[in-house]
Amino acid sequence: MSLVVRAPENIRIAVSECDEWYDGQWAIGRGCTKISPGCVNCTAAASLIDTPVAEATADGGARWTGIVEPIERQIEVTPTRWPRPLKLFVGSMTDFWHEQYPDEFRRRVWDVVHRYTQHTFAFLTKRSKEMLTWFERIDFDLPNNAWIGVTVETDDYRWRIDHLLSIPAKVRYVQCEPLLDRVHLRRYLEGSNAVDWVIAGPEWGCTHPRPCDVRWMRQIRDDCTEAGVPFFTKHLLDGCAHRQMP
Ligand code: SF4
Repeated sequence: MSLVVRAPENIRIAVSECDEWYDGQWAIGRGCTKISPGCVNCTAAASLIDTPVAEATADGGARWTGIVEPIERQIEVTPTRWPRPLKLFVGSMTDFWHEQYPDEFRRRVWDVVHRYTQHTFAFLTKRSKEMLTWFERIDFDLPNNAWIGVTVETDDYRWRIDHLLSIPAKVRYVQCEPLLDRVHLRRYLEGSNAVDWVIAGPEWGCTHPRPCDVRWMRQIRDDCTEAGVPFFTKHLLDGCAHRQMP
């Protein structure tokens, strides 16, 4: 029995329900720079080829140009059009905590989060140090409708969780996607200061996804189950859907 799977072919993607956990994306900015192995096949860069922020590479991939910019209309106009309470993924075309974003931009985004309390805003970053420093530096009231998350693709990046758990958000989550190696989460799932939610999954949506061992997925699922922490994957794992939410 082979335990090595290549995404997405060997992990079936469930199509019976929405395979994402959010209702919509709020693209407040675009552009980024790659900072860790999880960025290698960045789908945001690929989707923005031929815009000022990204370009194609000779081998069929995508790279960022270095331009990182707010999308003004999304910040100012789009929120007025959300019809009902939504769960929104913030900054799907960028990293909101990218060093090039000025304080003023971040403040305007957070003003919207404060104003539209009927919606849930989920932030996700690989720049956990920048995020933590910002929260420590700015006199800031973190609203309950903000979820804060970090990406951890291998054990080498678990330090991002230490930064995350220093921020008193109502929901703090870890996204192990693309999962590139075994990630030991156990010690972050227990105790009074623990992670509230875990998302995991193989790399997908790119031409050459890197392999994901199904045992890595099982370990995360089992650790979450034992600790009583909700676990979400948009792929079927051992024939089952796991769509728990915080
Ligand atoms: S941090 Fe996110 S948006 Fe930026 S390069 Fe990495 S994967 Fe892409």
